[in-house]
Amino acid sequence: MYCVKCRAKQTVSDFKEVVTKNGRKAAKSVCPKCGTGMYKIMGKA
Ligand SMILES: [Zn+2]
Repeated sequence: MYCVKCRAKQTVSDFKEVVTKNGRKAAKSVCPKCGTGMYKIMGKA
């Protein structure tokens, strides 16, 4: 997943799958380096 704060891809061992209000799947996680929340849209649910 991409961290906007580190401006780099970070490997996360753990993420939560969530569904947004508009019906899209997203993965939520936290950057292991800086602790910033990361959010990645996975596509349609
Ligand atoms: Zn980061």
